[in-house]
Amino acid sequence: MYAAEFDYVRASSIEEAISLKAENDDSSLLAGGHSLIPAMKLRLSTPQKLIDISGLDQLKKISKNGSHISIGSLCTHKQCAESEIIQSNCPALSDAASVIGDPHVRTKGTIGGALAHSDPQADYPGATLALNATFVAKGPSGERTIEVDDYFIGLWETALGEGELLTEIRIAINSMNANSCYVKFPQPASRYPYVGCGVSLSSNNGTCSDIRVGFSGVGEWAFRDSGVESTLKGQPLNDSTIASAADKAAEGKTVLNDHFVSEEYRRAMSKVYAKRAMMQLS
Ligand SMILES: Cc1cc2nc3c(=O)[nH]c(=O)nc-3n(C[C@H](O)[C@H](O)[C@H](O)COP(=O)(O)OP(=O)(O)OC[C@H]3O[C@@H](n4cnc5c(N)ncnc54)[C@H](O)[C@@H]3O)c2cc1C
Repeated sequence: MYAAEFDYVRASSIEEAISLKAENDDSSLLAGGHSLIPAMKLRLSTPQKLIDISGLDQLKKISKNGSHISIGSLCTHKQCAESEIIQSNCPALSDAASVIGDPHVRTKGTIGGALAHSDPQADYPGATLALNATFVAKGPSGERTIEVDDYFIGLWETALGEGELLTEIRIAINSMNANSCYVKFPQPASRYPYVGCGVSLSSNNGTCSDIRVGFSGVGEWAFRDSGVESTLKGQPLNDSTIASAADKAAEGKTVLNDHFVSEEYRRAMSKVYAKRAMMQLS
């Protein structure tokens, strides 16, 4: 199926992309195109103009920047999966990137596109919640940062304002983020997660001193699971305390129910994958 007709323009700078977006009400930014183009072909999205940002090389870098890692929004899933900086400082993110779709999707799709699109079944949201990420957005009124806890606010809805471009993802360099992982129960064809669980954990003499747990794919949008976190925090790390914490997964949350996976099964799998992630880190 072909998309409806549209105009196309290639932005040569971040500033140009922002002003093109401001000048064209019915326009969409185009990054890797692996969510937007399928949506256009299905006529779920019919922008009159595409503003192609995929040539903005300054958004394709991963670097250490003082106390945090800086990931440009146009870094591909492949780059994030293979980056030594990400693997050693925030492995939950490289874990998530490495299990997205297939090699073709990972070669073209970008971390910024995935986080801006915010599909309820996307992988990065659960991982970035676990890693306490900070997002940098640029728009007509300048640059601002958004904490991950304030970012995912609804079904396909984020705190990015109309006309804002997500430019960078920042992850603090610390021992808790270095001890993180992301595990998922994938749809066997598309590989989108039915359940994706990111965890970062710090411990002191075998006791859990801090933990963050983020779920993708389970609810209408990604969420942090404070029930699991508060049950394990301050407890000795062993099979029994981890099982008790995992048992709280998705408690009190609205859980998706579709013709592939029922609500009941998703809840059960949330516990299983939370337990696997915590066991891996303890
Ligand atoms: C077959 C298939 C399997 C997939 N499997 C998975 C999977 O297992 N897990 C998973 O998480 N995802 C999966 N995806 C989605 C994939 O990860 C996409 O690459 C990603 O969701 C979108 O990134 P993109 O760069 O392709 O963005 P695009 O499709 O170009 O854009 C998506 C949306 O984000 C906006 N946008 C893009 N970049 C920015 C920016 N920097 N700032 C502001 N807005 C921006 C666009 O305007 C558009 O609205 C799959 C996709 C396909 C086609």
